[in-house]
Amino acid sequence: MRAAVFHKPGKPLTIEEVDDPTPKSGQVVIAVRRCGICGTDLHATEEHDGLLVPGTVMGHEFAGEIVEVGANCASDWKPGRKVTGLPSHSCGDCLPCKTGKPLQCANNIIVGLQRAGGFAEYMTLDTHNSVLLPDSIDWVEGALIEPLAVGLHAVNMSKDIRGKRVLILGAGPVGLAVSFWCRFMGAFHITVTEPETLRRESATQFGADFGLSAGIPAEVMPEIVRAAGGPPDVVFECVGVPGMIAEAVEYSSQNGEIIVVGFCARPDTLVPAAAMMKELVVRFVVAYDKADFDMIAGLMARDKLDVTHMCTGTVGFDTFSEAFESLRTPNDHCKIMLNPGGA
Ligand SMILES: [Zn+2]
Ligand SMILES: [Zn+2]
Repeated sequence: MRAAVFHKPGKPLTIEEVDDPTPKSGQVVIAVRRCGICGTDLHATEEHDGLLVPGTVMGHEFAGEIVEVGANCASDWKPGRKVTGLPSHSCGDCLPCKTGKPLQCANNIIVGLQRAGGFAEYMTLDTHNSVLLPDSIDWVEGALIEPLAVGLHAVNMSKDIRGKRVLILGAGPVGLAVSFWCRFMGAFHITVTEPETLRRESATQFGADFGLSAGIPAEVMPEIVRAAGGPPDVVFECVGVPGMIAEAVEYSSQNGEIIVVGFCARPDTLVPAAAMMKELVVRFVVAYDKADFDMIAGLMARDKLDVTHMCTGTVGFDTFSEAFESLRTPNDHCKIMLNPGGA
């Protein structure tokens, strides 16, 4: 089968013939129909990281069709069924696995980073970490469940978003998904700050009331207060670079809440007194549970979510590597997807 293979930082992914996967017990093989490119993929291929082993096939935002079923799979896992899944290969027996939190399994292996993912014609999935999709969900929707789940999980981790003034720092796919769910869950007013014009403008399509270019908090704050009627009760940090948590503290109202969603693997500094004087609650969150996937699939099946505009480009293998590299520089894309069958 064809797959996009990582070799080393600085070298674009190459499209190669690799072995077809075979399913082990409790696994299925899917023909990948769509797989989104994520910021995590871009970061993982950069010099400083080192998590990726040469020869890895990435891709963790996938949807596809079952083509082969391994031993010991329940009877509803059969060829032709649509499926997506958490990008986890885990034991299936421990408490986190049994309760749909495979990322907390001591033996979790990340699919698409530490094990072959969806930038390929076929991939294997553990059925216990996967979700069967109704036929009414299309491939683009199916591949958007993972990035939407990141936002849903973050919003669910807030104490209560209803009636709140919300500020979201960053309008990348994560910030946009957070905005979407804040609206869905009943936030009163949503402001998004984002330096890229087209991304900022697209925030209103994701439920935001107001988009602002990012700037120095002292200058931006009066505009937020004017638009929202007061300082933000809840600030979602969706950028993930050092300095952003301190900025979120500056923006937050007295007794406010900060949810840190932007993934940052570098040291960061913060003046605790600034957060103490406001008696803030700061919560760090990551990824999602299986329940987030189930909820989104359920809403999509009932046509309750209008999200396909999140996908702003589809490419086949012929232009995939080029498209992947193009996302390293500022751009106005929300989500580009691979269609292994051709764009
Ligand atoms: Zn991702
Ligand atoms: Zn486990």
